[in-house]
Amino acid sequence: MGKIIAVTNQKGGVGKTTTSVNLAASLVATHRSVLLIDMDPQGNATMGSGVDKHALERSSYDVLIGSVDIRDVINGTELAGYDLLPANADLTAAEVELLQVPQRERRLREALNSINGRYDYILIDCPPSLNMLTLNALVAAQSVIIPMQCEYYALEGLTALVNTIEDVRDNLNPFLKIEGLLRTMYDPRNRLTGDVTAQLSKHFGDKLYRTVIPRNIRLAEAPSHGQPALVYDKASRGAKAYLALAGEMLRREEVASVGV
Ligand code: ATP
Ligand code: MG
Repeated sequence: MGKIIAVTNQKGGVGKTTTSVNLAASLVATHRSVLLIDMDPQGNATMGSGVDKHALERSSYDVLIGSVDIRDVINGTELAGYDLLPANADLTAAEVELLQVPQRERRLREALNSINGRYDYILIDCPPSLNMLTLNALVAAQSVIIPMQCEYYALEGLTALVNTIEDVRDNLNPFLKIEGLLRTMYDPRNRLTGDVTAQLSKHFGDKLYRTVIPRNIRLAEAPSHGQPALVYDKASRGAKAYLALAGEMLRREEVASVGV
């Protein structure tokens, strides 16, 4: 069974999609097989992977609502090298329609059963809210990566997110854990950065990734070319930072597996 990781933060614009796309590409670069699931009606991870969200015959909406097998909806991505379960605005309707469906928070989890063992990593890009789509991701996942900017209000939002993760653990998915907190758009010159980092490491200890993602224009440009930064400009600081993140993740797993 591969590892299923939700990339989530209900705060908008913190780098969830940038992290999902670029971590997926970086894991592929280390010869892991990866599925990226777009769970956001904005479809940014879809477009950022070079798939036109306006031209989808089927999407993650059909997997959540319909009886469509996930295998019939997954696309390959030509350049990025991972598989994609794409999304577009159709997914907005799923939120409402799911309210009528039994086991509505388990739809994604059940859908993933048919691809059990097929991927080393499944990453789920979540929308910027704690809604039914995010809940489906948290029930399907084994762990959560939380991207965040080092701002004052970031910590406030984090409490709500951690409470939600604990609720899900208590009621729906007992083994859900925090994989790591990732500092994005990192600017060491900003005085708040140091303060927020100190608070994060106090509360989350070694769950806080040492790797930080710098503010880097290539990371912002790459999506408009439908490419991860690693494809768009592999020498960029942004691409290298996400490679380093993949490396840190894999090393942590090795350490955990030998029980050090
Ligand atoms: P949403 O909540 O809307 O889904 P998000 O959390 O997925 O947003 P992104 O879309 O990844 O956030 O990033 C928000 C914006 O910031 C995008 O325009 C993205 O290109 C840009 N961005 C993200 N990370 C960086 C970075 N490290 N350096 C520069 N720009 C970045
Ligand atoms: Mg996003």
